[in-house]
Amino acid sequence: MTQPDTNPHDPSALLEPLPGHSSLGRLERILRRGEFAVTAELNPPDSANPHDVYERAAIFDGWVDGINAVDASGANAHMSSVGICALLTRMGYASILQISCRDKNRIAIQGDVLGASAMGVQNVLCLTGDGVQAGDQPGAKPVFDLDSMSLLETIRIMRDNSKFLSGRKLTSPPTVFLGAAINPFAPPHDFRPHRLAKKIAAGAQFVQSQYCYDVPMMRAYMQQVRDMGLDQECFVMCGVGPLASARTAKWMRSNVPGVHIPDHIIKRLEGAEDQKKEGKQLCIDIINEVKEIEGISGIHVMAYRQEEFVAEIVHDSGVLKGRRPWRKEPNPVDQMVAERMEEILEEPKHMLHEMAGAAGDADAQD
Ligand SMILES: Cc1cc2nc3c(=O)[nH]c(=O)nc-3n(C[C@H](O)[C@H](O)[C@H](O)COP(=O)(O)OP(=O)(O)OC[C@H]3O[C@@H](n4cnc5c(N)ncnc54)[C@H](O)[C@@H]3O)c2cc1C
Repeated sequence: MTQPDTNPHDPSALLEPLPGHSSLGRLERILRRGEFAVTAELNPPDSANPHDVYERAAIFDGWVDGINAVDASGANAHMSSVGICALLTRMGYASILQISCRDKNRIAIQGDVLGASAMGVQNVLCLTGDGVQAGDQPGAKPVFDLDSMSLLETIRIMRDNSKFLSGRKLTSPPTVFLGAAINPFAPPHDFRPHRLAKKIAAGAQFVQSQYCYDVPMMRAYMQQVRDMGLDQECFVMCGVGPLASARTAKWMRSNVPGVHIPDHIIKRLEGAEDQKKEGKQLCIDIINEVKEIEGISGIHVMAYRQEEFVAEIVHDSGVLKGRRPWRKEPNPVDQMVAERMEEILEEPKHMLHEMAGAAGDADAQD
């Protein structure tokens, strides 16, 4: 049986274009159909091994509609979001390419957008990005040639006008669904929906929020968003994530820019016998509340270093209502490539052992 939103000719290929859609990807289809969507953030590996990406993506198999590839979040270097998305699209996953303006200028970014779209990336999340001071290399040179607004405009122009920012023609435009980040929890609160309106005017079609640990604040934000009619112009996905312990929660609220965690959340974790389990249940409870807020179109799960809980969280919150998102089916060609890669990665070690063995034999003969 064909899986939902799958190209019948090739499961990893793009979908047929639909009227009114910007992309040829699954995430836009699900949101436009009015189904509650689920995306998850992939923990980017500090390695050059493609299997680290495949293994981390496989944890989400059948539970999410899109996988976000972060762009040096927290201003720390990891495998690039373009690299991760290239690997994910190869396997047929719907990837969401995050682009931060901190490390690249407009020339590099426009090239990356074309390259990513050519590789099958259908969703881009446009971010200004954390400052270099947040990371472990604070001496790095910040670029910020663009910001999230001008980045959205740049890609919208490339997609809709088939032009670079300079006006030079593109022979084939990128087919991407454009997203941005929102933070309903950062003061000044009344200003936040206006910032969303600006992002929508710049080209945002979907937004993913910062972690939500304050449901009443999210409710108040969405009331304003609905009053301004913004929920009719853009899909709002609420960011959620399990907290591993009260200590982690305290660390996050002091060290992660823009994260707001009320005291009662920390007290609930402190009072629990098993804080990790309680953190997971708290995440499910929050999802159960936010899914009922009018205008929320989905959740974005950021389960940093607790990705193994994502399936359980999505299952137990019942947000999919029995819907089973696309999952990767074993493909014999992928399997062959994976096995060959394994051999290639193992080869230098074998060669070293053989060389060491040969050298040992030679020494013994001397
Ligand atoms: C879902 C999600 C994914 C993210 N992924 C990444 C990533 O991959 N790489 C990365 O580097 N960062 C990432 N971030 C962090 C994000 O870039 C910063 O939190 C940023 O400050 C706000 O988002 P933005 O980039 O869209 O900024 P914008 O909304 O464009 O804001 C730009 C400027 O507005 C001001 N501003 C915005 N928010 C605040 C605030 N809370 N307090 C004070 N001033 C503010 C700042 O001057 C900031 O430079 C992510 C955030 C979210 C919510």
